[in-house]
Amino acid sequence: MIEINNLVKKYGDHVAVDDLSLTVEQGKIYGFLGPNGAGKSTTMNIITGYLEATSGEVKVNGHDIFKEPEKAKSCIGYLPEIPPLYTDMTVREYLDFAAELKKLEKKKREAYVKEAMETTGITEVSERMIRNLSKGYRQRVGLAQAVLGYPEIIILDEPTVGLDPKQIIEIRDLIKELGKKHIVILSSHILTEISAVCDHVFIISKGKLVASDTTENLLSMMSGEQEIELVVRRDAERAKELLLSVEQIDRVEAEEDKLMIYAQKGADVREEVFRRMADSGIPVLEMHTVTRSLEDVFLEITQEGGRE
Ligand code: ADP
Ligand code: MG
Repeated sequence: MIEINNLVKKYGDHVAVDDLSLTVEQGKIYGFLGPNGAGKSTTMNIITGYLEATSGEVKVNGHDIFKEPEKAKSCIGYLPEIPPLYTDMTVREYLDFAAELKKLEKKKREAYVKEAMETTGITEVSERMIRNLSKGYRQRVGLAQAVLGYPEIIILDEPTVGLDPKQIIEIRDLIKELGKKHIVILSSHILTEISAVCDHVFIISKGKLVASDTTENLLSMMSGEQEIELVVRRDAERAKELLLSVEQIDRVEAEEDKLMIYAQKGADVREEVFRRMADSGIPVLEMHTVTRSLEDVFLEITQEGGRE
């Protein structure tokens, strides 16, 4: 498991990770979701011991990453945003080299490399030079390096960036498979990417943790309410009062002749809205349901308090 307490990372005056605390436990796939610049890679680089923190604590299976880096790192396999592939090596040579760097037991190295290649589906290209591989296959080589030696925790920074749709599906399936035996943490700036594979989502914005929940809860929370835009001829304020007395309407915002109506999850209040307006003689000029995509809601959450 990983425990992060009050983690802070500053680049000069710029706070990239701002008092982040979270816990990651056994048997799940976790997602770090946040727009570009949110601090996902910085956080991952700190957890994996590639970058020093300004302050705070990170414990990997009880080992402090700053005090016992060797022990902590040995529990983790990491695919950084830009995998450090040596393109003049063959796939096998590179993985042998990676096994050596990871100080995996000599006798088992060959078996580990074989296993990692099988898991990531690259056995058939094992003797090819990395530079001659497609982007999708290179990404798999990076993944093979991350899973080499069966670390308990696998951390993948934007693992599907730059891949075509077919490759994305393949990598997703692979991640799901890995999630059965390992703790997997992956990052993405794309909500659908995270919701497709993760059990639990951490939404990170401007270095801060702004939400932490199961993917299921988060999706239902985000896609919950009905939102209706209503344009009336006059009396918008009176219309607002009338609408607020409708039980299933939670919230109404009025601006000049336009009203935004937010109704409870699962409710359809359109007929009721029409009836109330008609009964009170308020002419309705326009009414339509606003469908907000999950992406919109996600952007809203991560942009609260203004843009960068
Ligand atoms: P993400 O991975 O979520 O896109 P990053 O962790 O890469 O975010 O970056 C977080 C913030 O820190 C950004 O504002 C970025 O510009 C800044 N940053 C990242 N690396 C450096 C660096 N080496 N020096 C200065 N600023 C950096
Ligand atoms: Mg990043």
